[in-house]
Amino acid sequence: MKLLALHTCCAPCLMGVYDVLAEEAERVAVIFYNPNIEPMDEYLKRRDTCFDYAREKDIDFIEIAPDNDWEQVDANDEQRCFSCYLLRLGRTAQWAASNSYDSFATTLSISPWQNLEAINRAGTHIAQSYPDVSFAQYDFRNYYREAQNKARDLGIYRQNYCGCLRGRAEVQEQRKRCKKASASRNSDTK
Ligand code: SF4
Repeated sequence: MKLLALHTCCAPCLMGVYDVLAEEAERVAVIFYNPNIEPMDEYLKRRDTCFDYAREKDIDFIEIAPDNDWEQVDANDEQRCFSCYLLRLGRTAQWAASNSYDSFATTLSISPWQNLEAINRAGTHIAQSYPDVSFAQYDFRNYYREAQNKARDLGIYRQNYCGCLRGRAEVQEQRKRCKKASASRNSDTK
């Protein structure tokens, strides 16, 4: 792996893995391509935070515009996260191939909230279409807590949901259920 196109979802995840990958590759270009992030003000917040971090660290930062690409993913499909990974990694691999980069990877592999098996399946599938570009698989989940703490200490914006509105609604629902369960546990112990 010499030239790595690193798909990135947000600054905290990038902070967690960039230094490790920069040691391994001769050059790393960070690709911000996340048409899944809704609404637009949230997209802009994550993009700008990521851009500021990249500029500060002198990292090559490329934004691929989301356009209307998210319309390709059916938000009600059970497989929507896999489709979302396919979309984002697909454009990253395409960028790598067009710019003579030999590999691609994603910062999503740091998050315990993502489906690593589906990420790897999507990346491997996409790589089949690009003979000169390989998918670099990682499991960076052990770095997650440290990256989040670092971002918090530096005052870097940390989102509290994955990206799409459907995912946000699910997470809010889950938090509500947890809160209810914990309140009922507390009242049982009184
Ligand atoms: S929950 Fe996250 S990974 Fe799944 S579809 Fe939504 S934005 Fe994509």
